Amino acid sequence: MTVNGYAMVAQVRHRELKTRIGLAAFITLTAWFLTQSFWPMAWFGAVVATQVLDWFVFRPLRLHPTREPTTRYKVALCATAAINVIVYSGIAAWLWVAGGEPGRLFAIIQVAGGLLHVSLHMHHVRPLLFSAVIPHSLYFLGLPVLGAVVDQRPEELLISVGGVLYMMHLVVTVRQSSMTTTALQAANTEARVERRKAEVASAAKSDFLAVISHEIRTPMNAVISAANLLRRTRLDREQREHVSMLLDAGDVLVGLLNDVLDFSKIEAGKMELESSVMDLREKLGSLGRLWQPRASANGVRLKIQIDPDVPDFIRTDPLRLQQMLFNLLSNAVKFTEDGSITVLVEWQAADSRLVVSVVDTGCGIPSARLVHIFDSFAQVDASTTRKFGGTGLGLAISRKLAEIMGGSLTAESVEGRGSTFTLSLPVEFVAQETTQTRRKAEVQAGLEGRVILAADDHAVNRRILTLLLEPHGCRIVLVENGAEAVEAARTQRFDAILMDMQMPVMDGLEATKRIRAGGLNQRTPLIALTANAMDVHRSAWDETGVHAFLTKPIDLVLLAATLTEACAARDEAQGAAA
Ligand code: ADP
Repeated sequence: MTVNGYAMVAQVRHRELKTRIGLAAFITLTAWFLTQSFWPMAWFGAVVATQVLDWFVFRPLRLHPTREPTTRYKVALCATAAINVIVYSGIAAWLWVAGGEPGRLFAIIQVAGGLLHVSLHMHHVRPLLFSAVIPHSLYFLGLPVLGAVVDQRPEELLISVGGVLYMMHLVVTVRQSSMTTTALQAANTEARVERRKAEVASAAKSDFLAVISHEIRTPMNAVISAANLLRRTRLDREQREHVSMLLDAGDVLVGLLNDVLDFSKIEAGKMELESSVMDLREKLGSLGRLWQPRASANGVRLKIQIDPDVPDFIRTDPLRLQQMLFNLLSNAVKFTEDGSITVLVEWQAADSRLVVSVVDTGCGIPSARLVHIFDSFAQVDASTTRKFGGTGLGLAISRKLAEIMGGSLTAESVEGRGSTFTLSLPVEFVAQETTQTRRKAEVQAGLEGRVILAADDHAVNRRILTLLLEPHGCRIVLVENGAEAVEAARTQRFDAILMDMQMPVMDGLEATKRIRAGGLNQRTPLIALTANAMDVHRSAWDETGVHAFLTKPIDLVLLAATLTEACAARDEAQGAAA
């Protein structure tokens, strides 16, 4: 939308209407004081009348700022501006004649001010500028000439000469201002165009990442799962080492993929947070169990100290909190060669804040680098990548996540002594967890004897699911697309359903909706198992009432745990219904 010059003047005039009337009132009082006459009051009435006229004539421009005015309308606008100036500065003529010396001084200053005002506000619309400047100039230069002739005081002509000099300065100033305004407008337009281009490019980047992530996840899933299966077969030492290398490299690639995706989501402002109840002590315990062996392998002690005031259950985004703590612990383990790592967990009841400090006695960070470690792709020294891997994205993502969640992540460190990273997050305190969730956390029944429907169009993925899950004692019924899944769900009751997203014939979302619409498996827990890791997909699944959402490559432990929990939830729901 481009606003035309006339409309810009209309907006400024409207904004300054009250100021003009206020000034007129002040001038009226001054003129009355100087001349003790009734005329200044009459003048004030005339000013108000011309301001009302001005308001009406400029109004259509204010209402439709993008509409180009017709020639007739432009003439009306210019005439209004001229009438306005003629009346407004009319008081100067009266003061020149009847106000004596002070009146003349006041009059000339007032007209000079008026001239400056219209020149600066109307310079980008020449016809309006001339309509306002000409009457002002006539007063400004004409009054001293008139005085010189009528009062026979030729020395007053000098005032006109001064007036000419003033107007020359004014022309230079206005031209400069006009050039600056034009340059500013051009820069604004360019900035708008560039911003639009950047938005389009950013959207294209997000789409590209979604596609790439899907395309990489599918084969990665096959590689990691196949390597997992291979590890369980009889292997000699060398083969075992090769498989470990495969799995380690796979983990690094998945980590990298997740980091890049998270980072681009945060950059695009598309990071969506979830909110659910989290068993804090349980989560911290499992984090400890995960990192303990790696720390002890380096001869480092890992301690988790939880203040007694810390609540058992909190409401937050559990996945993101875990991600941040995981990153801090992984760094602490990476950069601590001896000594200890302590995770201190505290509760600030006053503002319902969870404060987690990860304190290590590792190599520390030089103070000059400390300010940069939260920048993206920043590592303390280039050899870090060669020695430990990593991208330098972990802390940047963690800090951004903490900020999005309303908290902060800070670091203190002494080189050679160790580092302390402090995460402070506002979280909701959940007083007493419902017995149902507590029971859920306790349910540890296996998958023995369960019957699970799995829909996936890739033969390799179907094979992998069977090989991964059947050792848990469950039976897997495999189908190749959504339509087959709906058909299977119509005839047989399942304990849980695993559903891929993109499949030929009928996709996973549609199949899920149909299964949820009625029949034997209307309430069977359904787990979306997909290579689409973007939040848009997650929300599409959430709308179908899916029980859980897992991304590929399949994490066997997580898959088994989610299935076990889903089956237990189904048993509980059935028990409650019975
Ligand atoms: P990455 O670990 O993937 O390289 P991060 O953003 O997590 O990326 O960390 C950035 C850098 O900050 C690391 O490469 C390391 O140099 C430094 N760093 C992070 N945590 C620690 C720590 N606990 N002790 C010493 N240096 C650390």
